[in-house]
Amino acid sequence: MSEKKKKLTTASGIPYAKHEDSMTVGPRGPVLLQDYVLHEKMAHFNRERIPERVVHAKGTGAFGVFRVTHDISRYTRAKLFSKVGNECPVFVRFSTVGGEKGSADTERDPRGFAMKFYTEEGNWDLVGNNTPVFFIKDPKKFSDFIHTQKRNPKTNLKDAAMFWDFLSLNPESMHQVMILFSDRGTPYSYRNMNGYGSHTFSMINDSDERIWVKFHVKTRQGIKNFTGPEAEEMKGKDPDWAQGDLVKAIEKGDYPKWTMNIQVMTQGQAKKFKWNPFDLTKVWPHSDFPLVEVGEMELNKIPENYFRDVEQAAFAPSHVVDGIGYSFDKMLQGRLLSYPDAHRYRLGANYEQIPVNRPLNKVNNYERDAFMRVDDNGGGNPNYFPNSFDNIEPDHKYKEPPMKLESDIADWYDRNENDDDHYTQPGILFEKVMTDSERKNTINNFVGHMKGIAGPRREEIIKRQLGHFYKTSKMLGDAVSEGLGVKM
Ligand code: NDP
Repeated sequence: MSEKKKKLTTASGIPYAKHEDSMTVGPRGPVLLQDYVLHEKMAHFNRERIPERVVHAKGTGAFGVFRVTHDISRYTRAKLFSKVGNECPVFVRFSTVGGEKGSADTERDPRGFAMKFYTEEGNWDLVGNNTPVFFIKDPKKFSDFIHTQKRNPKTNLKDAAMFWDFLSLNPESMHQVMILFSDRGTPYSYRNMNGYGSHTFSMINDSDERIWVKFHVKTRQGIKNFTGPEAEEMKGKDPDWAQGDLVKAIEKGDYPKWTMNIQVMTQGQAKKFKWNPFDLTKVWPHSDFPLVEVGEMELNKIPENYFRDVEQAAFAPSHVVDGIGYSFDKMLQGRLLSYPDAHRYRLGANYEQIPVNRPLNKVNNYERDAFMRVDDNGGGNPNYFPNSFDNIEPDHKYKEPPMKLESDIADWYDRNENDDDHYTQPGILFEKVMTDSERKNTINNFVGHMKGIAGPRREEIIKRQLGHFYKTSKMLGDAVSEGLGVKM
């Protein structure tokens, strides 16, 4: 290579001569305190790790493009959706949820499917999963729930008793549990799974009309899953299987694609809907709320540097652009707060200046200073509003229409309408949607995992969970009881 050689420098740009040998008194040492390069190397190395994400720690990501293929401007005034053919760059991070950064990619777990759309009016993050529902419907339960997926505080081991104890005491988890223990709980690869925004969001159009929406991002590679035993085997063979699959596919030009759809519910339909439309443990049946095609997404570039772009990527459901809004969904409301809070802890208050998180458009505001401020920090411009010096002003065209509330502030835990129906939808999934072989695998996956429940409360926990299986489907209850050798 005829490329001009570069000089080795310290972080402050000072060229230096020796990278491998410390400065010593005589050839045998000791080492001198004044060897600054040695200190810089050791000290920086000691600080390489940033806090691991408490959930979704193991992941991989890619850049790509989103293209609008169908006109939904009747529902939303979002600039991105103003015209068929509009495009924007995207960054997508896939992950498992419960395991640590070194855990295996084929663990039985939901998969994170977090999308960042760099639109001309700011970043829109759709921070979804590969499942349309979740284990809980109230954010107050989240930390308890996640603790049960982590390690037992005493043994430091994963603990099936903790897991099933919590789930059996929270029957609202039944729908997600059913999906998790179907083969969709062990996707073959990130390319072969769907993404769901999961929450109910709103869309607002030019006439200030609000409708409720759910986002479905369907794989064009086809759904493909490992069976339970295949996933177990892959954990040992190649714990980074899904990361490798994505990298290899993109590097050979086999770019994965997804189709984005929405489901639309009017405010009137929401009032009459059989279930709470803002309940994250429920779906909206396709027959009543058909998928409306919106666009396509292609991933075509693996980041040059994993830490820079994947480890430092920060997604937040609170990042919605004009024309897309929140809903009453309690879990969404909790996440609006907790995601940016997690990023401020993990990456610092200026996390949105990190290249992968930076919007395409110019940021104008009065936030200043804090650790790792690496842009011009507002330069010499005023750091307060209102002021008589700059020309930044709020634009009222971005005002959202009012959202009508129909209730009082109160502790509603004892009066949640229709919220006790934890069983109808997972029952339909098990009995009507799954094929015979999917049902068989789901039963085997339940039995295999529940056999791991140990300790003094084993029987109580198993029986409580079997009670939920029976309420979901007698066929399921009978099969799992038989597999576990437990009489109800
Ligand atoms: P449909 O028959 O119209 O839809 C069934 C859906 O189930 C399809 O989207 C299919 O996804 C998905 N599916 C198939 N197998 C599994 C599985 N093992 N785990 C999770 N999803 C699976 O029926 P409905 O809309 O009336 O819904 C029936 C049930 O299907 C629901 O109770 C829910 O459990 C499940 N479901 C519904 C979704 C919805 O938004 N309505 C979304 C996902 C699941 P695909 O098209 O990719 O094969």
